[in-house]
Amino acid sequence: MVKKNTKDKIRSVKGMHDMFMERMLYHERIEREARRVAEYYGFSPIRTPHLEPEELFTTSLGETSEVIEKQMYTFSTRGGTRVAMRPEGTAGALRAYMENGLQSQAQPARLFYSGAFFRHENPQAGRTREFWQSGIESIGDAGPVHDALTIRVLISILEAVGLKDSVVHINNIGDKVCRAQYMKELTAYYRKRQQQLCPDCKKRLKDNPLRLLDCKVYECVELRKGAPQIIDHLSEDCKKRFREVIEFLDGMDINYRMDPYLVRGLDYYTNTVFEIFPGEEESEDEEKEGDEKKQKASISALGGGGRYDGLAKMLFRKDIPAVGGALGIDRVALEMKRKNIKPRSEPAPKVFLIQMGAKAKGLSFVLLEDLRKAGIVNAHDLAGDSLTAQLRKANDLEVPFSLIIGQKEAIDKQAILRDMKTGTQELVSFDKIPTTIKMKLRQL
Ligand code: AMP
Repeated sequence: MVKKNTKDKIRSVKGMHDMFMERMLYHERIEREARRVAEYYGFSPIRTPHLEPEELFTTSLGETSEVIEKQMYTFSTRGGTRVAMRPEGTAGALRAYMENGLQSQAQPARLFYSGAFFRHENPQAGRTREFWQSGIESIGDAGPVHDALTIRVLISILEAVGLKDSVVHINNIGDKVCRAQYMKELTAYYRKRQQQLCPDCKKRLKDNPLRLLDCKVYECVELRKGAPQIIDHLSEDCKKRFREVIEFLDGMDINYRMDPYLVRGLDYYTNTVFEIFPGEEESEDEEKEGDEKKQKASISALGGGGRYDGLAKMLFRKDIPAVGGALGIDRVALEMKRKNIKPRSEPAPKVFLIQMGAKAKGLSFVLLEDLRKAGIVNAHDLAGDSLTAQLRKANDLEVPFSLIIGQKEAIDKQAILRDMKTGTQELVSFDKIPTTIKMKLRQL
């Protein structure tokens, strides 16, 4: 309930934004291209609820992950059920796959989703509390070809919106077996250097040492440079998978960079993990200039993903291999803007409908429908009355033609079709207007 005198202070919730005009156009363009590319590669759209049982995420993302520890929006419903506003798309997609019997259909199930996600993070440019992702999941097949396909699709989406120089950072974090040995070495390395770690990392050392590699604090980034690398501990099988994925990327000419310390924030990943950055992020300065740039890099990832063969086991005690990835639509939009890529807007109007007088206004409604059904993109100002003002609008929009209906034309069921460039005019009867305009447009 709104308290007295607070009405003028009602604002959108911190970190959540209205979307309209240009921002809307960017989002729509990215989502449209994402769906087009994903469908081309056999992914079919799925929509899962924004609210999920809380345990879907607490069980899957890892109790010590940032998302679970600090960022989830959770609450009890009136009926007392604990729910969470989805912080990511993978767990929900896997739940939907299990719940709807998709495992009995052709494998892998290829799913595409696009929508809003929620994390209680510190808002800044490129980081909001409601944000948008388009993502894909291939569930039910362990082949490395699906890892490569995931990356292919995300890169193709970026290319389709004009971001052609993105770089994939890729690593393989092994499976449960090879990771166990690595974790021992990693823990030993950091334990010896405990005093130099930031407070968060001191905690990570106890709870989840792998996440030490993810820290953006300068001292920790420096320490990481000497840390053991998982690649030296991979089993033959994991190494082979890594090689195969890389070979696929080579074959596709995808710009990638091996990143031996990339681990990603969530617990459920196994083997392939990757993140995608805008082109310039590849520069060597990034390594040298430390803290500030690292921080910037951490909010400039356009997307990421990886294989999560263990997730179905954690959630449903089933062995179901899967891989997926997602693009952050808000970040992709920011990057497009930064690179001066316009969100292709609606097609430009070809005709402006000018009307004067009550009868003409009434008939304009009929004519606008005729034009819409004929697929002729038009503009109008139904509230306007003056010929000059409406003609000025037509000129501003640079339409090739305008249709003018005054009192006399309305009575005769005719309109004046004006060629805006030459100024020539002719009378056309209402029923011939769509075909006449189409013919004239073809002649342009
Ligand atoms: P993640 O799975 O957390 O790496 O998220 C995948 C992508 O979603 C990231 O690379 C970002 O582009 C985007 N993303 C994640 N969190 C946010 C956020 N809070 N605000 C805006 N975009 C985000």
